[in-house]
Amino acid sequence: MTSSSPQPYAEVIGDPIAQSKSPLIHGFWLEKLGIKARYTANHVTADQLGGYFDMRRGDPDWRGCNITIPHKIAALDHVSDPGDIRGSIGAVNTVFRGTDGALIGTNTDAGGFFLPLAEMDWSGQSAIVIGAGGAARAVLFALARAGIGEVTLLARSGLKAAGLLAHFGLKGKVLPFDAKLLPAALLVNASPLGMKGQEPLHMDLSPLAPDALVYDLVYVPLETPLLKMAKSMGFEAIDGLDMLIGQAALAFELFFGEKPPEGHDDELRDILVR
Ligand code: NAP
Repeated sequence: MTSSSPQPYAEVIGDPIAQSKSPLIHGFWLEKLGIKARYTANHVTADQLGGYFDMRRGDPDWRGCNITIPHKIAALDHVSDPGDIRGSIGAVNTVFRGTDGALIGTNTDAGGFFLPLAEMDWSGQSAIVIGAGGAARAVLFALARAGIGEVTLLARSGLKAAGLLAHFGLKGKVLPFDAKLLPAALLVNASPLGMKGQEPLHMDLSPLAPDALVYDLVYVPLETPLLKMAKSMGFEAIDGLDMLIGQAALAFELFFGEKPPEGHDDELRDILVR
């Protein structure tokens, strides 16, 4: 089926794109809700990005797109930015059509990340965040909005990490990866370490608060060495599928005007780890 089909559609764009799980997630929800629309993956290279948005702008069936590597920053040059995503998180992962037809860029990664943490009061709590890339920006944005206290950022580029803390108005410090951890209520891995094909994270988690939560954004594998260690030490662990499904849920509503169906998360998680 091509994009000129009269059926409404949304898609995920990136280069490469075959690894994206977004078509599985959105396709699952569309089917459950009986919505006659489709969600596909579209390989778009950096030099095709401007042309892509020019074409979709005039296509009334196109409801929007998710954006993955390497276009999350470059896409900002092609869409409206009423929420000042450029000045805050600095990257868009979702573009949808506003009521006036304008293509609006937004970021659902921060909201998706925070969904499993939303029941807790994080104001004044301390957190450790690993990594200083795009995912870390969404994490820091969400934590700053939640009123987090001290943030320790573990990163290989101290300058970049210090810039991020300042950008989000966060108090805290930057430490190298091999530093001894400080007591904290939350540890987030926002680096690819522990992902299939990458080095695992080796750190002593014992300084964390006894009821600390360990959250790994990596979802391949679902149980990373970090989460395995955290569980074995009695910490509560959150895996990367929670954020993946959460960010998709927020985008789904923007594309198709309905919330994803409730009560099917376990079935969806089973499909995603197959
Ligand atoms: P990114 O923009 O490339 O940033 C990666 C960060 O990790 C950078 O700060 C980088 O350091 C650091 N890093 C990379 N390799 C490292 C190494 N070997 N040693 C030390 N630091 C290293 O990537 P991203 O988009 O932030 O993604 C990070 C991870 O989060 C990925 O595994 C991704 O799959 C996951 N993620 C998950 C979700 C979800 O929904 N669950 C959403 C987004 C991302 P430099 O700054 O020095 O380059």
